[in-house]
Order: sequence, then C-alpha cells, then structure tokens
Amino acid sequence: MALYAPARLSEGPSGEWPYSRRGLEARAMNEQTQREIMVEIGRRLWQRNMVAANAGNFSVKLADNMVIATPTGVSKGFMTPDMMVKVDFQGNTLEGDGKASSEIKMHIAVYEARPDIVAVMHAHPVTATAFAVAGQALDQPILTEVVPTLGPIPLAPYATPSTDEVPDSIRSFLPIAEAILLANHGALTYGKDLWDAYYKMEILEHSAQVALTARTLGGAQSLTDEQVQQLLDLK
Ligand SMILES: [Zn+2]
Repeated sequence: MALYAPARLSEGPSGEWPYSRRGLEARAMNEQTQREIMVEIGRRLWQRNMVAANAGNFSVKLADNMVIATPTGVSKGFMTPDMMVKVDFQGNTLEGDGKASSEIKMHIAVYEARPDIVAVMHAHPVTATAFAVAGQALDQPILTEVVPTLGPIPLAPYATPSTDEVPDSIRSFLPIAEAILLANHGALTYGKDLWDAYYKMEILEHSAQVALTARTLGGAQSLTDEQVQQLLDLK
C-alpha cells in the first residue's frame, strides 16, 4: 500500500525557541522546568509499559548545538531533575554527572534534519515494537485521529543500537514522517516540545493496539483516499 501524505504537527517554534528571545535568566528557569517535565514524562513512559528496566531515552533542545538528555543506565520511571545530562550536537557532555543516552546520535540526527523539532523520544511500547519486530509498518490509514496527527508511520531498517547505523537508518524518513518504527527495536517520535513528542508516542502505541485488535476481528478497513483528504483538510 502506498503511503498516504504524512501530517505535520510540529510546524512550531524555530530551532532556537524559546531561548533566543529571552535572557539567560529565563533560559535557566526554563531549563529547570524542562528537567521537571522530563521526570514526569519518564514516569509516565514507565508506568504505561513503554520502557522496561533502563530502556528508552528522550531529549529536549535548549539552543542550537545544545540538548538535555536522559541519563543512560537509569530507569526512566525514577529519575530526578539533576540526573539529566547536557550535551552538544557532537555528543560531548557539557554538564551532568551521568552519561547521556547511547542513542544520542539518533536524537541529533532528528534535530539536524528537522529544525522545527524541539524534543525527541525513543521508547519500546509493546504493541508498536511488536509491529517493528514483525517487520510491519503502521502505514494503513485506519483511524480518524491518527491521519491528521501522525500520518503514516514507516518502518526503518534494522540498525545496531548506539552505532552510526541508527541515524543512517532513519534519515530518509525524517522529512516525511512524524514517528518511525525501528525494526527489531522500538519506536521514535519527535515534536515541538516534550509533551508533543510524548503524546505522539501514546498515539503510536494506541494505534498499534487498535490495528492488532482489528486483525483478530477480520482485519482493519482502510479509510478511502477521499476520506483521508477530508481529514487532512480539516486541520
Ligand atoms: Zn531502544
């Protein structure tokens, strides 16, 4: 089946949002807020079975060439704001006692390809990951709320975690997708802020659960091209 046109949720702030418009003091305050949001989102990812043990990682862009990322080797359900690690786009640690996620290269690839993106999230939600393990994209237009938000979700080819293979495997999808399945691994979402990226992960997993359940009932019925277009026109 051909991919239907992807939606763009993230036509928001420029790459430097919101810090370029504010002073250093505001930026420091905002960084603390972002760290607190990261703690809350980590808790939700863990509680909703989207990460097991120390899996998953996410980051938020503070400025050009600067992100704060979750630490590696820590359950995302039990983080504190001080655990986050500040890194530059080359992966060098700028601040923090821990080590940034081993998947930081994947995050940087997203920020470099999509200046509209401010937050990146990687998790292993069970049903979406099952599609990735089965080698199946979630690119059938079956849900009215997914068509205008995520659009079709492609499956990136397998890549060894933490290597340069991972950013290479997703690069071609970044301009055309709002979420990506990673073969035999998990899922990637990104958005205009941390909550946007997190909610996309929820929508991704929910749509995978619906798609799987519909199969047990005889198969999902696709929306027609005309119905898809009408949903996109409503945006
Ligand atoms: Zn992973």
